[in-house]
Amino acid sequence: MSEVFRFAPSPNGRLHLGHALSAFTGFDMARRVGGRFLVRIEDIDTTRSRDDLIAAIFEDLRWLGITWEVPVLRQSEHFDDYRAAATRLRDMGLLYPCFATRSQIEAALQPGHVSDPDGAPLYPGLHRGLDARAVADRLQWGERYALRIDMARALAAARNMAGNAAFTFQALDAAGRQTAVVANPARWGDAVIVRKEVPASYHLACVVDDARQGITHVTRGRDLLAATDLHRLLQVLLGLPAPLYHHHRLLTDQQGRKLAKSADDTSLASLRAGGATPVDIRHLVGL
Ligand code: GLU
Repeated sequence: MSEVFRFAPSPNGRLHLGHALSAFTGFDMARRVGGRFLVRIEDIDTTRSRDDLIAAIFEDLRWLGITWEVPVLRQSEHFDDYRAAATRLRDMGLLYPCFATRSQIEAALQPGHVSDPDGAPLYPGLHRGLDARAVADRLQWGERYALRIDMARALAAARNMAGNAAFTFQALDAAGRQTAVVANPARWGDAVIVRKEVPASYHLACVVDDARQGITHVTRGRDLLAATDLHRLLQVLLGLPAPLYHHHRLLTDQQGRKLAKSADDTSLASLRAGGATPVDIRHLVGL
């Protein structure tokens, strides 16, 4: 069976050197093992995603010498599938509607509250356990809501379904060595699985699509290492296969900060315009 790798950019800015490292990492690994390489457009955030930026992603990747299979999956065309996955989790009693606004959540925080790996405060449980009547009323009024995972229940359900394997994933290092890593999804608390504005979240769409596309190797930056904990939990709950994970090093700017899409000087387009070649880009990202 052939191994399947992917690069999954969000089209809300130009690709920069960090993306080049990610794309090269997956592409090179796929080539080394004679595997397949896919590009997936993660555009569920329809207010920030732009078609011209999708075209620019393809242009930048082509220029780098990267090739991928077509057709390319665009997540904005698959909301029904994310809805279906959410319904399944909801039917298992693992998701609940949360009507709270950001300011209501902030007002409910206790001093010394804990944050999730993205730095957002752990959800203080405001609407967990809202009674069915109150939920029905609010729904009837058309109040908007996110769906959050009931982490305690989800952990128990996953443990029932898969035992300790529910909390383990296989990590590949740069040398191809495989080690079992114990995931800690609890550190995300009652995370949002379906956002208020769109019928999905990065986490949900990512695991649904990694499975749909038969991804065997997820290659992405270390900034998403903690997300893998939640992805592993969702895979177990949804009965999806577990890919191997390679989280590559991150590139930083001269101040040691992670490269951001807004940092135009490291965009592939401006480097190209300044005369850089794809070989220069490989060197710049340390390959
Ligand atoms: N779309 C995500 C990003 O651009 C990457 C997601 C992934 O590789 O799992 O940061």
